[in-house]
Amino acid sequence: MPTTHRVICPLCEAMCGLRVEVRDAPTYTIGRITGDPDDVWSRGHLCPKGTALGHLHEDPSRLRRPVVRRGDRHHEVSWDDAWAEVERVLRPVLDTDGAAALTVYVGNPVAHNLALARYIGALIGMGQAVGMGAYYSPATVDQWPLNLVSAKLYGGMWNSPVPDLDHTDLLLVLGANPAASQGSMLSAPDVMGRLAAIRERGGSVVVVDPRRTPTAAKATEWVPVRPGTDALLLFAVLRTLAHDGLLREHAHLAGLVAGLAEVIALAEPFTPEAVAGPTGVPAATVRRLAHDLAAASAPALYSRIGTCTQEFGSLTTWLVHVIGVALGAVDRSGGMLFPEPSSWSPMFMKPPDQTGPGWETGRFRSRVRGAPEVFGQYPVSCLAEEITTPGEGRLRALITVAGNPAVSSPGARALAEALPGLDAMVSVDNWLNETSRQAHVVLPGLSPLEQPHTDDLYWMYAVRSCVKWTDPAVPPPTDRPEEWQVLLRLAGALLGTPVADVDVASMDDLYTHGLVQALCAAAGGNPLAGRDPDQAVAALRGHGPERLADLGIRVGAWGDQLGAREGLTLDDVRRHPDGIELGGLEAGRLAAALETPSGTIELLHDELVSDVPRLLERLGRPDPGLVLTSRRHLRSNNSWLNHVPALTRGPDRCTLLMHPEDAVRAGVSDGDVVCVGTREGELSVPVAVSDEMMPGVVSLPHGWAEQRNSNLLNPGDVVDVPSGTIAVNGVPCRVEPAGVTLAT
Ligand code: SF4
Repeated sequence: MPTTHRVICPLCEAMCGLRVEVRDAPTYTIGRITGDPDDVWSRGHLCPKGTALGHLHEDPSRLRRPVVRRGDRHHEVSWDDAWAEVERVLRPVLDTDGAAALTVYVGNPVAHNLALARYIGALIGMGQAVGMGAYYSPATVDQWPLNLVSAKLYGGMWNSPVPDLDHTDLLLVLGANPAASQGSMLSAPDVMGRLAAIRERGGSVVVVDPRRTPTAAKATEWVPVRPGTDALLLFAVLRTLAHDGLLREHAHLAGLVAGLAEVIALAEPFTPEAVAGPTGVPAATVRRLAHDLAAASAPALYSRIGTCTQEFGSLTTWLVHVIGVALGAVDRSGGMLFPEPSSWSPMFMKPPDQTGPGWETGRFRSRVRGAPEVFGQYPVSCLAEEITTPGEGRLRALITVAGNPAVSSPGARALAEALPGLDAMVSVDNWLNETSRQAHVVLPGLSPLEQPHTDDLYWMYAVRSCVKWTDPAVPPPTDRPEEWQVLLRLAGALLGTPVADVDVASMDDLYTHGLVQALCAAAGGNPLAGRDPDQAVAALRGHGPERLADLGIRVGAWGDQLGAREGLTLDDVRRHPDGIELGGLEAGRLAAALETPSGTIELLHDELVSDVPRLLERLGRPDPGLVLTSRRHLRSNNSWLNHVPALTRGPDRCTLLMHPEDAVRAGVSDGDVVCVGTREGELSVPVAVSDEMMPGVVSLPHGWAEQRNSNLLNPGDVVDVPSGTIAVNGVPCRVEPAGVTLAT
């Protein structure tokens, strides 16, 4: 008889509660996976990805043992042999060039894995303590503009209001497609149901996007916009709000906003008529959007990936929030509200190297192209040249953690060619992918169903406050370490201990004590401020990720503050397998949420204002012609689920979407294989002719590997200047017949 386990889906920010049938020992095979109707957060919602968790668990290609590469061949080895190989390749680099010759690449799945998310900070922090410089992640491909704007305006890189979906009467969505993502930096189960509810109660959903996405198709209105020009559109909306007398004082923001008049002054050149050509949005539509926003009783703006992955990602994200403030939408019911996360996360702490009152960027620069750091990272497109360019400071060693940058990074070909030149490469990964295949050693972790799980970061973006925990649905194997233990062992190696000799338990104590000590030393407002760190650590239960989860819950908003008051502990949460509901979004949290030096929303910053002339130059730039954008599908998650047959069956989704007029111009028909090229490279894909694209823009899915990888087309050197995020939307391209028609 199968046993049904409650599991938090770890595959996206929706954090759905699932019911997973597991057959008894010894097979523990996975049966049906359904949405858990009793889950207090998701109430039975799930998407196709959630049902594929069993496939991920049972996938025969998932690594159960470490793998060592010898030439082009990979061999399974024991853990002892794996540690010996790590030591063999890594130690000479550390001994000769030190940790400065090493970097870490942090993949996106890290944020969705309890063990990796809680302990990646140990690996990076301890590496930096002994001289490691910048590290890398896909954040510089898809989200740094939001983090930068959050840090500057609200004082924390993860601190940002989210749209109050359940009460807004006008939601303006820019560059986001929750029908595929299920919400990004916006956690809301059944997000499309919530958008439908806005319309059902008489409100409107307006989607600004170059493509009539599945989200736009269900919206009140789709406003096509040329990729990379959202900032022009938003400046014109702001200018219209000001010029047409649509702005008024908002009592709830009195004394809590600085710099609004100065930003409005910057909008002056961006008239609706001036931006109409570059954006493709008629001046009348710009004006109507502004008037509709002003007339709405509870407007909210939400922007995401498409607005971050473009040349002006930071200005666009900034203006979304400026307009939110100007309308009085921020911190107003139905507008843009600050969630109350149920759990504290180490990620909420200001990193120790951020020493000023605000958030600094550009404190050091990359060796080869001189790119400024942003939050300790360089654009990931710098990684290849830092490996291949000779000279002092060359990167000789790389640790990748649950990532596939050889596919997911713009300029992917250069990185794929650079990786074999490393003296030491270690991948912590459950699969041999295009990146980990190049590693000297691959160290696998457990399957998602073999691990406990709880989220922390995503409650920072949630439309309700809840807390949930799930124990492993399948007993974890006892013959291999967990991922947090692997990370601590690698961290110990960076500190100088032979990797096989690292005392993982002591490292865990060291790291946990360090986090608690930092909390105890922090300024007021922190529940542990002034407390004795030893006593605080002693009050925690367990060890490893569970101890850090206990810490997060207990110092969170509903926690017991380690015994200082009545409140939640991890043990309490464990007793509620369907989760604990803690309340909805509420207005009035702004003053408490702000972490800026002035205690206001600081709208004006040099890094952002100094980028406005570049935008003005864009206003006068000649039309680039056909441009390329990327897209994602509900059944994929960037580069990490495209190998799962259950999610890829059916018609080929890796097609180039193209408007009929552009297809005629290019001489191609629906189903033809076309050659799409940019100055970075070219590849062949089938074309799907559809008016869901606006004319002049084509779209290719990202995350597909090998010869269909869109990052073979995306140059790595076009970046959003303030954040260093690489522009992958709006890449000038050409499309030509490749001379092949696919059989249907
Ligand atoms: S929406 Fe899908 S992938 Fe996301 S948490 Fe829910 S079931 Fe998992």
